[in-house]
Amino acid sequence: MTTLEQWLAFIATHLPQPVREERDGDLTTFTGGDPVEVIVRLTPSTITVFEYAVGWTASDTPVPAPRRIGTVVWRRARTPEMIKAVAALIGAAREARLAKFRICERCERSIPPEWMDDERICQSCADAEAAR
Ligand SMILES: [Zn+2]
Repeated sequence: MTTLEQWLAFIATHLPQPVREERDGDLTTFTGGDPVEVIVRLTPSTITVFEYAVGWTASDTPVPAPRRIGTVVWRRARTPEMIKAVAALIGAAREARLAKFRICERCERSIPPEWMDDERICQSCADAEAAR
């Protein structure tokens, strides 16, 4: 197994499930969690960890706006310190993302901020209410 393959396997098993993996040339993008919590981008020299977030365009359309938590420069190496650093970045990204979730007052589920209708209730509860 090459070092790159070892990193691919490490990242895939350290992200929240389900994990999706997309390759585009030298760039591999991992997306972990449903709703998405963490994004990791792996290139032949760097590993960059993002907290998933959603921004809004001027016309109120949600667009992914991940926030960068940190980068580890690996360049074909894989030391215990690098492994710890990547695991810590994934943990920090996840914690930052989950800290923004809210409990819907109606269905009592934990909801990511972009799915909340207002401070109190989620969009599906708001839609159900509007349809009544
Ligand atoms: Zn709800």
